[in-house]
Amino acid sequence: MTENTTTHQWQASTVLQVSTEQIQDMLANAALGEAPAIELPAGTEIDVLTVNCRACMRLFEDAADEPCTPVPMP
Ligand SMILES: [Zn+2]
Repeated sequence: MTENTTTHQWQASTVLQVSTEQIQDMLANAALGEAPAIELPAGTEIDVLTVNCRACMRLFEDAADEPCTPVPMP
């Protein structure tokens, strides 16, 4: 895949509610040196709060019709 700096890289922000059991599984995996991850059942629907670009950090509704100007990551 070619990196095009004027193309937005959209991502959706969401809130994921987790159970204590899922957190304990996640921490157990992290303790084993694995990346912390939460497994979701198939068909899980996730509410999207906002969509923004991970390159320029602007919201979809503000930036969708303008080229992407990536901001440097700290
Ligand atoms: Zn962008």
